[in-house]
Amino acid sequence: MHLLVLGGTTEARRLAELLVAEEWIRVTSSLAGRVARPRLPPGEVRVGGFGGADGMAEWLRAHRVDAVIDATHPFAGTISFNAAAAAAAVHVPLLALRRPGWVPSDGDLWHATGSLAGAAELLPGLGRRVFLTTGRMGLAAFAHLDALWFLMRSVDAPDAPYPARMEVLLDRGPFTLDGERALLRRHRIDVLVTKDSGGAATAPKLAAAREAAIPVVVVRRPPAPEGVPVAGTPEDAVAWLRGVTGANA
Ligand code: NAP
Repeated sequence: MHLLVLGGTTEARRLAELLVAEEWIRVTSSLAGRVARPRLPPGEVRVGGFGGADGMAEWLRAHRVDAVIDATHPFAGTISFNAAAAAAAVHVPLLALRRPGWVPSDGDLWHATGSLAGAAELLPGLGRRVFLTTGRMGLAAFAHLDALWFLMRSVDAPDAPYPARMEVLLDRGPFTLDGERALLRRHRIDVLVTKDSGGAATAPKLAAAREAAIPVVVVRRPPAPEGVPVAGTPEDAVAWLRGVTGANA
């Protein structure tokens, strides 16, 4: 059995870890190649785009793939639709491994919006010192906000355009509650912007914002392809895989 895991997330790495020692399956993990020094999953890894849905279908055929698990980030919208089209074209079973979104709790001051542009519109009414954690892509949406100061955290340095008054903090999760508390205090942050990425690794910023009564602009997830079964954890994805491949090892 040959499984293609579309990766770039903690869950995709965990899935590869769960399967790498299994004899009934060969796993290839695929990364887009966006991060300069990615944390690599165990097992075989390929890097770079496929060339759209047709290119992925061709790859699935050429490499005799028996199943695909789309474990990409919930905000990586294009690749998920490509995977749905490619898997359908080649008649290969597809599962989406997607961590559940975050749910607000008592004391949270969340403002939901549908896009980075929507977040940028909300910001001037919410604060002046912004902790921006939406990643290094899409910063152009905030570039015109000259009256605001930004602390932008990402794995790799961003490319322009981005806001004029912006400090870059290069770091990658998991983050701790103590660390996030200290960061908010040190930089006198009064508003946080995040995607609804879900997962534990980057959730402590939400708890720290709640404690400090700091408003949070939460960008909702983009649409995902319909009709693709979804698992919430790598373990559930393995159970699905055993089901579709008939493996009982
Ligand atoms: P995207 O907009 O959905 O994808 C754009 C293009 O990048 C795709 O059409 C595909 O190129 C290529 N691609 C994306 N993921 C790939 C993968 N796992 N393997 C091979 N090619 C891939 O994706 P994105 O938002 O740029 O994200 C890129 C990667 O970063 C994803 O793997 C994702 O899991 C990870 N990531 C994204 C975010 C985020 O907020 N978007 C956050 C954390 C991690 P072709 O059409 O040429 O095949």
